[in-house]
Amino acid sequence: MRLSRSFLPTLKENPTEAQITSHRLMLRAGLIRQTAAGIYAWLPAGLRVLRNIANIVRHEQDAIGAQEMLMPTIQSADLWKRSGRYDAYGPEMLRIRDRHERDMLFGPTNEEMITDLFGQVVKSYKELPQVLYHIQWKFRDEVRPRFGVMRGREFYMKDAYSFDMDYASAVDTYRRMMLAYLRTFQRLGVRAIPMLADTGPIGGELSHEFLILAPTGESGVFFDSALEEQDWLAEDVDITDRQSLEKFFTRMTSFYAATDEKHDEAAWAQVPAGRRREGRGIEVGHIFHFGRKYTESMDIAISGPDGAPLYPEMGSYGIGVSRLVAAIIEASHDENGIIWPESVAPFKAAIINLKSGDAVCDGICEKLYAAAPDLLLYDDRSERAGAKFADADLMGHPWQLIVGPRGAKEGKVEIKNRRTGERTEDTVEGALALVLKNHG
Ligand code: ATP
Ligand code: MG
Repeated sequence: MRLSRSFLPTLKENPTEAQITSHRLMLRAGLIRQTAAGIYAWLPAGLRVLRNIANIVRHEQDAIGAQEMLMPTIQSADLWKRSGRYDAYGPEMLRIRDRHERDMLFGPTNEEMITDLFGQVVKSYKELPQVLYHIQWKFRDEVRPRFGVMRGREFYMKDAYSFDMDYASAVDTYRRMMLAYLRTFQRLGVRAIPMLADTGPIGGELSHEFLILAPTGESGVFFDSALEEQDWLAEDVDITDRQSLEKFFTRMTSFYAATDEKHDEAAWAQVPAGRRREGRGIEVGHIFHFGRKYTESMDIAISGPDGAPLYPEMGSYGIGVSRLVAAIIEASHDENGIIWPESVAPFKAAIINLKSGDAVCDGICEKLYAAAPDLLLYDDRSERAGAKFADADLMGHPWQLIVGPRGAKEGKVEIKNRRTGERTEDTVEGALALVLKNHG
């Protein structure tokens, strides 16, 4: 993308409405703009990040055998009346009436819809397990939308739903999902710690939230510092083997980690004093097992091994995709701006032309840009160098390819690593090989 022609409105000043760093930086880097309270438009660069995150989430869901589908945002109230949640959900649900006076709603979550669809399709225990997911916009009329997309009213979520024939198999599914989550967050370049969590209004018995540690996080967290030192994914896990899954899960959950809602003083006292860490975290994912709550209340039975009706065991598994954009920034920035992990960055590198209009500089920049116009942002504006550097730092591209008259004469490009600040020099080919290395 050429910066001179792009819809990438960076701001020099801090917007006064933003209270936390990620919100300030998302506005300043031209990723989002608010259109109503808690509702945001994703501008081109922001959308690229959102898509990159969604794609990583998608790959790791697919890797454990979950199947992607797409359910609508608008749901019929009748579905929710069947589970009994229509009245129970309260003012967070955006209720709508259509022209025929039918009660509809903008979905805050999809347990009812997926359970109903499952019941229309699956007839026998032989078709289990089934894990289905979609990545779709949700609406929750939050009392206090704040911190930008961190707590929006409209937000983008991956939600998966599982159906198993018995508890043991549902627990396997839950553990597989925990593994997929750890792999997802690792690929996103952040550490999210699974913590024992409250099951809340969805109900159920087994539940973990995944939290990224950050002082601006809305949840209080208590955890054993051994968890920060663990390399959780070092060991191979065979996802088709119950014992292998159990071993992984036991290792993962053997250290104390709980959100304030589930904090247990007696268990906390067992953690060696030097390893007790208290802090704040951002909830980026949540997994639940809740058994037969919806299959029973909505009367979705399939035929079991003995021919008798069987109500499948369910779980649901969310990842806050739009919240993650903000959470990654909270975890990865400095005083000059965002520092994107390479896997999610909107562009792999910015090409900074220090002398736009100079034939040699322009030539090298065009050559760099032509190699991957979709992955590189070419700052071809006739701005001063300082402004270009400041914008590149603000937008957080992992690399900056700096082309000035002196180096250009020798066909050289200066390469700056945004995270370390390290600068090296290389040929056009060398520079491209480095910044595009993870792109075949
Ligand atoms: P919270 O406790 O933050 O309100 P929740 O427990 O209500 O979240 P879940 O129902 O578990 O949320 O939703 C799954 C994921 O969706 C959460 O882990 C979070 O990352 C994300 N999420 C939930 N509410 C919002 C919101 N208002 N804005 C952005 N993301 C959200
Ligand atoms: Mg939650």
